[in-house]
Amino acid sequence: MLHRIERDRVVYDMSPEHKPVLEVSPGDTVIVETEDCFCHRIVSESQTVGGDFDFTHVNPATGPIAVKGAMPGDTIVVSIESIELDDQGVIETCPSWGPVSNVSKSCVTEIAKIHGNYVSFMGKRIEVRPMIGVIGNAPADKSIPCTTPGRHGGNLDTKNIMAGSRVYLPVFIKGGNLSLGDVHARMGDGEVGGTGVEIRALVRLSVDIDKMPVESPTVETEDAFYLLFSAQTMEEASRGAVKRAIEFISDWKSIPREKAYMLTSIACDLMISQVVNPLVTVRVKVPKEIL
Ligand code: CA
Ligand code: CA
Repeated sequence: MLHRIERDRVVYDMSPEHKPVLEVSPGDTVIVETEDCFCHRIVSESQTVGGDFDFTHVNPATGPIAVKGAMPGDTIVVSIESIELDDQGVIETCPSWGPVSNVSKSCVTEIAKIHGNYVSFMGKRIEVRPMIGVIGNAPADKSIPCTTPGRHGGNLDTKNIMAGSRVYLPVFIKGGNLSLGDVHARMGDGEVGGTGVEIRALVRLSVDIDKMPVESPTVETEDAFYLLFSAQTMEEASRGAVKRAIEFISDWKSIPREKAYMLTSIACDLMISQVVNPLVTVRVKVPKEIL
């Protein structure tokens, strides 16, 4: 069955308190209209997030979508079929954003037009690689702002969450209550300046339930699994992601942990997803060829 959710059905946090705006069955397809991370309040270069910009309402996520039959301990599997971009995105940076401060003296905006498969930046055409920044399920007993990533998903800002990928998210409450938004036409690993090309989009996806639990968000592409981990520091996040890779490989291949650690060391890549959110996110790429 095909469903559609409009762009104004958004949440700003992932919470067990929010009532689902849609209930779907496993296997259903949903077209999700997503809002951009600034709620479309920055549409010209004379507008910035400086001054009295309302940061309590950013990163809106469309939803929540309840999946019939999903129970705590299950995994919701989101297959992203396509991401259709609006015709204009926004890039923003501010003096305190990212690892290098005061590159700009004040908040600055760049409006980036989309032409087919390209985004135009200062006259240069750069290929788009549409991806979803925010995607997650409701946590069990607290509310987590959409700006923050974690075990539930949230602001993961991971480039591989794109058309053709499958995202595995842990379920904490009945129905899971999935929501998503914050699409980027393009983003570099790290999202160092604070944004990608932030843009409205139409995301077409299907949902399913896997009874196998997953500890933390995992992304599957044609040739690899990406095991994500978010934490306060890069060291902690790296440790968490590498530990996940060791356990994943060891369990998949039924080999001892130390052999899986060796395999991780010789064939898997430790990669940075983002360093600009309240928790940083890293991932380990496990190529399918070694499994
Ligand atoms: Ca984001
Ligand atoms: Ca964003």
